[in-house]
Amino acid sequence: MPAPSVSPVIVWFRRDLRLSDNPAVAAALKDGAPIIFLFIRDQIVDDMGACPSWRLGLALDKLGQRIADLGGQLILRRGAPIAVLREVIAQTGAVGLHYCRDYTPQAIARDTDVKADLSTLVQVTSHNGQLLFEPWTTETGAGSFYKVYTPFWKAVRDRDMDDPTPAPAQIPIPESQPDSETLSDWGFDASMDRGAAVVLKHTHVGEAAAQERLRYFIDNNIGAYKAERDRMDIDATSRLSENLTYGEISPRQMWHAGRQAMQQGAAGAEHFLKEIVWREFAYHLVYHSPHILSSNWREGWDAFPWRDDNADAEKWRRGETGEPIVDAAMREMYVTGTMHNRSRMIVASYLTKHLMVHWKVGMDWFAECLTDWDPASNAMGWQWVAGCGPDASPFFRVFNPQTQAEKFDPIGVYRARFLDAAHQEARDFRAASPRSWDLKPDPRELPPMVDLKEGRERALAAYKAHTANGRESAPET
Ligand SMILES: Cc1cc2nc3c(=O)[nH]c(=O)nc-3n(C[C@H](O)[C@H](O)[C@H](O)COP(=O)(O)OP(=O)(O)OC[C@H]3O[C@@H](n4cnc5c(N)ncnc54)[C@H](O)[C@@H]3O)c2cc1C
Repeated sequence: MPAPSVSPVIVWFRRDLRLSDNPAVAAALKDGAPIIFLFIRDQIVDDMGACPSWRLGLALDKLGQRIADLGGQLILRRGAPIAVLREVIAQTGAVGLHYCRDYTPQAIARDTDVKADLSTLVQVTSHNGQLLFEPWTTETGAGSFYKVYTPFWKAVRDRDMDDPTPAPAQIPIPESQPDSETLSDWGFDASMDRGAAVVLKHTHVGEAAAQERLRYFIDNNIGAYKAERDRMDIDATSRLSENLTYGEISPRQMWHAGRQAMQQGAAGAEHFLKEIVWREFAYHLVYHSPHILSSNWREGWDAFPWRDDNADAEKWRRGETGEPIVDAAMREMYVTGTMHNRSRMIVASYLTKHLMVHWKVGMDWFAECLTDWDPASNAMGWQWVAGCGPDASPFFRVFNPQTQAEKFDPIGVYRARFLDAAHQEARDFRAASPRSWDLKPDPRELPPMVDLKEGRERALAAYKAHTANGRESAPET
């Protein structure tokens, strides 16, 4: 390691909680100065839902331990980033600031302000540590952004990419550290109540756990990934979204592992790469059309007669719709902090079509309950299913939960796991859910909340009236 110079540089962590393949860390190491590792609990963090913020606390704890193992310290501060950074700079005499870019409108506004304010004090450098490709580097032939996934995939699949960088074996440490708050003071677990102990069993926190998961997936599951990724009863996918969300693994590390497997002839590998690019596509859309996060991507849908949050939506949240695959999926999320991709599509279709409840109600509940909550993928996923997003599944394509269950949970293993009290996960759901929910003993005995045929016809009639009013054109293909 180069001899540390006197003035340190700051690495400001946000959604990139790792040391390997982290360009902000790599750049700070290149500076050769002692590094102050900083995390700021700002408004963006305070706005996170219960489960995501609890999971963030676990990620920070793990990252703190990892930095401590190398002799350093993760400094935790709460407040408005400019004020906190100014204070840390004043306390330490730091001369540089590195961070990885984030792409939600709130994050972009925050970072723009930070850069404008601090550039006269320190050298501020942002990096790409969250995506494979910056959202502004991919353009259609007409010079616009992509609104359809397949051409986006074709545009990026063969792009050059640097190799991921390894984690540093040593880090230059400043002689003294600035003050730090503590994670226990932050109380990130406060709103998890009884859920924390249950969800904890299903989380894999930190860089090492993420790498282990990636290895396991590549060694065991990537070959059959394309064929089996929709099966809810089989452990066929990488389950890395949780780690990707907090940056415990980089998309580039996943891409490289997938690419290598593809070169070695793994049948499902290309499909895995395609899924990673769905996440890229989500951020591409958020960057170019940020309203996707909060309103119908296609304005024509503003007049659609979605129902607001209501008693039906509450039953959906509790997994008491009387539709076993929907109830199992909703309980999977509550117990594990995640939900199979196929299940997400089924419950989203049921809520927005059979119950005709606004997709934002579902999106908000996911944002409260998922350990892999990602603002871009969540919004895109909901708008895709509801039919109002770009490149969406048309509204008239209504998933039949029973047919889906027969196809993707053929002998009912998944449903039993979350609904049958003989299984730990089903019992855990009762242990984790609020007492005020007053759950019925066995959700499989509940009558269906809505007749599937009638619900479908009601949704299609609303859609027909809506399009007849000229309010919505056919989805782009
Ligand atoms: C309504 C709805 C809401 C969703 N909300 C989220 C969310 O909050 N956070 C989140 O990470 N994903 C979300 N998804 C996408 C998807 O369900 C998850 O990424 C996937 O289930 C994660 O499991 P995995 O890591 O085993 O994925 P794998 O199948 O192993 O895929 C590898 C990676 O590709 C990415 N990916 C896969 N499918 C998608 C997809 N459809 N959209 C975007 N990226 C994808 C993920 O980063 C994933 O980790 C949502 C999908 C829907 C339909």
